[in-house]
Amino acid sequence: MSSQEKPITMNQAIDQVAAQLDGPTPMDEFIRRVLELWPSKAKNPAASIRQRLRYGDAPLVTLPDRKTVIPVALALKGVRFRIPLSRQEARRGFLLIYPNFDIFLNQHLRPEAARLFDKQGHPLPTQVIQVRQGHLESLGPYKVPAFRLTDWFHKRRVRRGDSILVTVEDWQQGHFRLEHEPARKRRQHQEEIARKNREMADLFFDILEAAYYEEIFTQQAVPTVYALMSDPRGYPGDHWIQVVEQDPRMRWTGGAITYSDRFSPLERMLFGQTPVPQEVNCPPELARKVYRFKAALRYRPGLWRRIEIQGEQTLADFDAILRQAFEHDTLDHLGGFWKRARRGKSKRFRKVDLGTVDPFGEGEGADLPIGGLGLQPGDQLEYVYDFGDWIEHLLTLEEIADPEPGADYPQIVGRNRPRYRYCETCKAEGRKTVATWICLECSNAEQREVLICEDCLLANHETHYAGSILY
Ligand SMILES: [Zn+2]
Ligand SMILES: [Zn+2]
Repeated sequence: MSSQEKPITMNQAIDQVAAQLDGPTPMDEFIRRVLELWPSKAKNPAASIRQRLRYGDAPLVTLPDRKTVIPVALALKGVRFRIPLSRQEARRGFLLIYPNFDIFLNQHLRPEAARLFDKQGHPLPTQVIQVRQGHLESLGPYKVPAFRLTDWFHKRRVRRGDSILVTVEDWQQGHFRLEHEPARKRRQHQEEIARKNREMADLFFDILEAAYYEEIFTQQAVPTVYALMSDPRGYPGDHWIQVVEQDPRMRWTGGAITYSDRFSPLERMLFGQTPVPQEVNCPPELARKVYRFKAALRYRPGLWRRIEIQGEQTLADFDAILRQAFEHDTLDHLGGFWKRARRGKSKRFRKVDLGTVDPFGEGEGADLPIGGLGLQPGDQLEYVYDFGDWIEHLLTLEEIADPEPGADYPQIVGRNRPRYRYCETCKAEGRKTVATWICLECSNAEQREVLICEDCLLANHETHYAGSILY
């Protein structure tokens, strides 16, 4: 058509500018340089660039200040990490590429393109082999790629429990320097390793707490953590996957890191139901304590009940008293509880699933004791009655107090002041009777609210579909 050069794409421009950066760079400057190469007519081209940085596989990461970017190649350059050798690896003389080199091996490189060197910088003959692993239930044995290092392992007398310390020489090219560290040497560095692990775990967790969603992608999070660590090129702690897996706050899902108590819809499907922590115990000193909650309808906060329940009592007990307090059906529908957990020091919350309770007092959340949920005054739970109609209640813990002698918990100890409405039939006959029903059929037919008392409901609307009114 024309002899003009084919215009550069946004991704090409991002890659080109990233390759030119020599350190952390202000986001604005980066965007300006990309736009110089990629003159876009889009309405908000900067937003597209930010979008790719956030969710794409761009070769650079955004630091938590959200104002600075750094190329992955620079964030990882010279970084040292530890591979703990399994029995299989030590005995047969290879290093599994995954998960050992996850993130460290540039995903755009084939493993065969990687180059390994020894401590002195001499190339190690690098061969990629396929290693047979155990059985996946339905697939039978499967194979995974590994770097074969039999001779080097043999010469170094590498054993199970030893570590290979790896230095990322060049992330772009896939160049790594390997050192063998015998297990006894690792033992001399216990404290240093523990300190490094703690620093790394806290960095991952801070990034997770600050993230918009409740998971962070390792492709971005791992280089970011190395960019923030105080001494990522010094003696290494444990492998980042181990650090995350050992931290009770988080878990690694393969491509992402999430909260240990959060499960994706897919995981829920696989597990069949909510994988709720089974071992939640109420500390003995909290067993008799009384937890006073203000329970309010989420979308009608003027309608509330004050409920007291003891630490050793369960979500099943709570569900039963909530149904009674809000006049929900006690014979039908599920109830479900969530805990609202503050994210970092922000005003943002995430919901931790505590499980459901069915009308028979069963369900995966039924046996959780209130005193085992780690609640402090001011903390909130959410309760949903009926997963079809989805009626939300906000339960705010007001106080943890000592029990009153002779009281029978759980109990309803307070309620909003009712603003009564009156039966229109009685009113027409000159009587003032509180309306406890709304006739839905008459309301619909007459396009207004037809409110009636129980007697008038039975007398005039017996076959009509009606709903009760709660005050
Ligand atoms: Zn009436
Ligand atoms: Zn009616």
